[in-house]
Amino acid sequence: MDEKRTTSQRERLRLLAKFLPGTPAAASAIELLQRMIRVDTTNPPGNEIALARDLEAWVKSRGHSFVKTRIFESEPGRASLIVDIPGNDPGNHPSWGFMSHLDVVPAEGKWAHPPFSGDLVQAEHDSFVWGRGALDIKYLGAANLVAAFTLLDEGFRPRGNIKILLCADEENGGHKGLEWLAGNHLDAVKVDCCLNEGGGFKLPIKDDFVIQVGEKGVFWTRLRIHGKGGHGSMPPDYGTTAIYRAVRILDKLKRYKARLTIGKEYIATISAISLPNSLKGLIKAKGLLRGLLALAERATRLKLRQVVLPLVSNSIAVTNFHSGVKENSISPDAELVLDIRTLPGVGRAEVNEMIREAIGDELYGQVEVEPIANQPCTTSTIDNPYYETIASITGEIYPGANLVPLLSQGSTDSKFYREKGMAAYGFCPTIKDDDLTYDQLLAMAHNVDERISVTNLMLGVDFAYRVMKRV
Ligand SMILES: [Zn+2]
Repeated sequence: MDEKRTTSQRERLRLLAKFLPGTPAAASAIELLQRMIRVDTTNPPGNEIALARDLEAWVKSRGHSFVKTRIFESEPGRASLIVDIPGNDPGNHPSWGFMSHLDVVPAEGKWAHPPFSGDLVQAEHDSFVWGRGALDIKYLGAANLVAAFTLLDEGFRPRGNIKILLCADEENGGHKGLEWLAGNHLDAVKVDCCLNEGGGFKLPIKDDFVIQVGEKGVFWTRLRIHGKGGHGSMPPDYGTTAIYRAVRILDKLKRYKARLTIGKEYIATISAISLPNSLKGLIKAKGLLRGLLALAERATRLKLRQVVLPLVSNSIAVTNFHSGVKENSISPDAELVLDIRTLPGVGRAEVNEMIREAIGDELYGQVEVEPIANQPCTTSTIDNPYYETIASITGEIYPGANLVPLLSQGSTDSKFYREKGMAAYGFCPTIKDDDLTYDQLLAMAHNVDERISVTNLMLGVDFAYRVMKRV
């Protein structure tokens, strides 16, 4: 990306004057984010209760007595905080949720600034708050809270109800956070539309911002493979051992070309993206897609197949391979774990059929297929007033902004909302910082040297502020 283009991108941002870096709101957001990073909520074990209590104290210290806080513990220490801002006409206006999670992944490796320091460090173009969770996703919790209390301090009351949700356990599947809450305290989390992490990134294509409107299904599967065991000094026919069978399965999986499905989600993505129509026509054509991507990869040196093919196919990744415990024993057992991600409408039966197709009838007949997770794909529609609100506010902040709906490969808590029939979108606008490359930015979550720029933090505050003002 050349210098001119990033500069003009930055100039186009229309942060409200009160949210510019250097303002009291920015100081407040930075301070709250630092405070959040300094409470270690590494999951496992999570121990989100310390942070939930600290944030509850922060909310109470802001002195709006009609704002209610509740802490829910799914088990000791695994706490989610819900902040309720009651609307004054909730019967006639939809309620909105502003979701994030309290937990973070472990901070391994060598960091330039310690992962729980929350250090504020000046770079060439901007200041950055450093630490585990800065980007994923404590900044979003801080932004939502600062936006809400800025509005309340101005005397604002929403018409519909607003909930700010700060949940436990997202990094480990959300079972002890939103999944548990939706299952046991649905009324406490119920909203008409929820905004969450997982989208909002400005693409390096014109003025396009990605919005996550769905998540592929997750069907983790263990294949148990059996064969002849024995003493390592007197090996049986090599081909009859479990390890060899597992290797044959691996080889089949490596060669497997998943069937392509041009579904309505993919069509929506391609229709929205700012590419020439002639090119869009080609990349909607199933028969041309693989060849076209290979050509485009050569031209751009980007790993396009890795990004685009999962949008039109169910993917299989082998993530674990175990066999044997002893140097001189041939194990009669082996196991492979597959991480399978699926498109809309695919269930366990279709997943097993795909495994059969990939590894062939003979091998399929020799394995036990054991489901570990059966989580179908979830989506939210894009033809509703919530989506329009998100699009129009993004356009206020970044004139010309264009939303590109995306079915994401990854998984967040939003699926628990969608499963209950509520709309959920992964969206908070984020731009590439002049101090970072795209590669650096993409590599940062769950990695060393996680940090967020004050500009992106304040974009989050500004966006939440504007959405809340319309509730
Ligand atoms: Zn996250």
